[in-house]
Amino acid sequence: MSRSKEFFHAAQKRIPGGVNSPVRAFRNVGTDPLFIASGSGSHITDVDGRDYIDFVCSWGPLLFGHAHPRVVEAVRRTLEKGTSFGAPTELELRMAELVCNMVPSVEMVRMVNSGTEAAMSAVRLARAATGRDAIVKFEGCYHGHGDSFLIKAGSGALTLGVPDSPGVPAGVGSDTLIARFNDPGSVQALFDAHPDRIAAVIVEPVAGNMGVVPPAEGFLPGLRDICSRNGAVLIFDEVITGFRVARGGAQERFGVMPDLTVLGKIIGGGLPAAAYGGRRDLMEQMAPVGPVYQAGTLSGNPLAMSAGVAQLELLEEQPPWDELEKKGAVLEKGFQEIQKRAGIALTSNRVGSMMTLFFTPTKVEDFASATQSDTRRHAAYFRAMLERGIYLAPSQFEALFVSTSHTEADLAKTLEAARASLDKKS
Ligand code: PMP
Repeated sequence: MSRSKEFFHAAQKRIPGGVNSPVRAFRNVGTDPLFIASGSGSHITDVDGRDYIDFVCSWGPLLFGHAHPRVVEAVRRTLEKGTSFGAPTELELRMAELVCNMVPSVEMVRMVNSGTEAAMSAVRLARAATGRDAIVKFEGCYHGHGDSFLIKAGSGALTLGVPDSPGVPAGVGSDTLIARFNDPGSVQALFDAHPDRIAAVIVEPVAGNMGVVPPAEGFLPGLRDICSRNGAVLIFDEVITGFRVARGGAQERFGVMPDLTVLGKIIGGGLPAAAYGGRRDLMEQMAPVGPVYQAGTLSGNPLAMSAGVAQLELLEEQPPWDELEKKGAVLEKGFQEIQKRAGIALTSNRVGSMMTLFFTPTKVEDFASATQSDTRRHAAYFRAMLERGIYLAPSQFEALFVSTSHTEADLAKTLEAARASLDKKS
């Protein structure tokens, strides 16, 4: 038995499902997870000593790849001076200045520990600022596991949300209204049906959690317009897109300014850190300036700040976006050629260095079209790629992430593996 299998067997006795986050269990792809021993650049090595080209990149944070020397050195230096004080440090100021400089709509920012926490806090602030309770979220968008967000769409855009998980109170569900991604009309209809009830619209400006779905022309400006006209707060959840699709995230790339922005992943450089920020008048409603409470023992933790600051400084010194765009395009073009040659029904969606290959011939522009994908064929493709040393996200409804550390040889090997995996008519 492989060591991964041994560990997984033992872990299932002590950790629910053997994992600390459900998708890691590989259940969607019909195999057992690998236990990872180490990572360097674009490669990871499992506990059995097998090497993989990694396109998960810790689900997005590692824009420069694993164990980048600058990040490692920054963390090491900080570590020697103590791990946590529960008091302000200079690193937090440096982080706040970097974020406000880089993300166009952010005037003030508050650090937290996870994207979940950041999204929950942004919604609390929006509710406090508007004195309203309801929020609009989009079918297929994920904003962490806060109660308000674990709501699945009903049958129509005007249906009230029904909790997606036991343990979420029905009352919370009724304050979450579900709209269709890329359909501003479905949002307007909710505002018409619930006048003066909606505090915020929260959206992944490029959806990443139903697979990658780019915003259609007019979608983000439409949301901006509806929120402004109705006195609601527009929240961009840029946990994935922040610092990835452009220096200033999706708001810069698509030229639409939200009121509040949720950040995570890249901001922590691979350590636990996230943030929410935005307009000064809104952020000054947070305690201790204003009455809206939110706090955290390890918020702005020095180790996390040093990793995040090191990565953001690297971004400023060596802007990677042209390179990421080119590398993403190489993969996309390769996939399209394979698809044509093999006559396979595939649709690829890409924005810069985030991409999803859907196993459907039809355009994917919202949750309904994303779920047309043949997940059984995706699972077979995933397993065939893993056998060939390519580590992809173990779900159809996730993104593939390219980092600067992926070399031309990595991309060529990946396309070769994809050709072989897909030619088998997997
Ligand atoms: N928002 C988005 C867009 C995400 O992709 C995620 C996590 N994948 C979250 C929020 C939640 O972040 P975390 O897992 O750090 O709580």
